[in-house]
Amino acid sequence: MKRKRQKRPGQGEPPRITKAVTHIRLLEVNPGKLAALDALAPVFLALCQQYVTLFCTDERPDKLRAPVFPTPLSERWQRVAIQQAAGIAQSWRANREQAYQDYVDERAEYHEHQADGTLDPKRKEPKWREWDVPTLRRTCIQANANVVVLEPSQDSTFDYWLKISTLDFRKLLLVPVKLADYHREVLKGKTLNSSVTLNKRDNGWWLTLTYDEIIPIQTAPDAPVVGMDVGIANFVTTSTGEHYGTFHGKLRQRQKRDREKRRRKAKLRKCLEKKGVEKLPSTSSHTGQRLARHVRQEINRAVNQCFAKHPDAQFAYEQLSVATMKFKARAMNAYMRASNLGHIPKQIAWNAAKRGIQATSVKSAYSSQECHVCHFVDRKNRPNQQTFCCQVCGYQAHADLNAATNIGQRVGDTELCACKGKKEIKAVLMKRHEAWRQANGWP
Ligand SMILES: [Zn+2]
Repeated sequence: MKRKRQKRPGQGEPPRITKAVTHIRLLEVNPGKLAALDALAPVFLALCQQYVTLFCTDERPDKLRAPVFPTPLSERWQRVAIQQAAGIAQSWRANREQAYQDYVDERAEYHEHQADGTLDPKRKEPKWREWDVPTLRRTCIQANANVVVLEPSQDSTFDYWLKISTLDFRKLLLVPVKLADYHREVLKGKTLNSSVTLNKRDNGWWLTLTYDEIIPIQTAPDAPVVGMDVGIANFVTTSTGEHYGTFHGKLRQRQKRDREKRRRKAKLRKCLEKKGVEKLPSTSSHTGQRLARHVRQEINRAVNQCFAKHPDAQFAYEQLSVATMKFKARAMNAYMRASNLGHIPKQIAWNAAKRGIQATSVKSAYSSQECHVCHFVDRKNRPNQQTFCCQVCGYQAHADLNAATNIGQRVGDTELCACKGKKEIKAVLMKRHEAWRQANGWP
């Protein structure tokens, strides 16, 4: 079982989250029963790939595009492939655009440093490498009711029947579905969505069912905003001045031990390799995976504690870009930590949606360099990692607290929201600083 996705609510529509029930095994009552599905899968996947490539290169993704590639699949199946491909291409394009914008911002910053002579000699000029079009490797079919119908079983032996249309015109494949007790418990009283997902792994076919849950926002519209800054020393720092969770201490010790262990194993491998030993110990690390899971749990706990501490507030958090993540992780210089940093905003969004708490993501650019009093933006406002000290008005605070305050203030800031890229954001902030100077008669 796992979370699925959060649908952005339309105007006046209660927010709904889609939950997925995974790992339902398709039973093969007699051998070869699923052969028709096995035959369909590669044909479907190849067609879907053709549309993915089309939508990532020559055309904008269009779920309703008219079929264009020749295939033995029925038109209904083709529509399913087109829809699935459009979804994949859409998110690929969105991620690529975001990464490209980050690259443009990073390059501009690099040239600024170069122009004013503050370039770190070790820093390399950012380069753009064009993304490859996604390749579909695993068999995954997101089918709608036009091709796969889920029907409750009248017989008590099974819970459902899946009726799958196959390559063979007019021939339906009937597959019984038996739920585990815990699946049945979760689905009790829920209305299932008509679309299902079929996944093929080495050991067979698996079904994923979904249902929607409507969780109305409980937060009052005029609730005070608590800003949340995300980091490594403190997973979350609020504009109310509290810290929740940290990577330092125990987690950091564990990560160090894990790295040393891997290094020792790699050394041993090399040594054995030289001696011609055939079977070598693996360098992949189970403790590493355990650690990553543990970090996620700690993040989850920190976010929940933060929500519990402010029961009547709404929250603002950062939209972390690749560039900010890199920046925030640079001091630590470990990929794993950077990737888990990206997990924090996701966790905030999900936990808030689940509890009906209003949480808004805002642009994060310069939130750590902007003075929340006079809006002056400068790298020099950060003499070190922990300290914020404004070069103009002299405001001093814990750096994360200043950032959290800025983030809180950015909710409903339509001017910043409309900015494209860091350059525009900086211009807006510096304009505000000028206005502050005039209003306060600052020389
Ligand atoms: Zn200031």
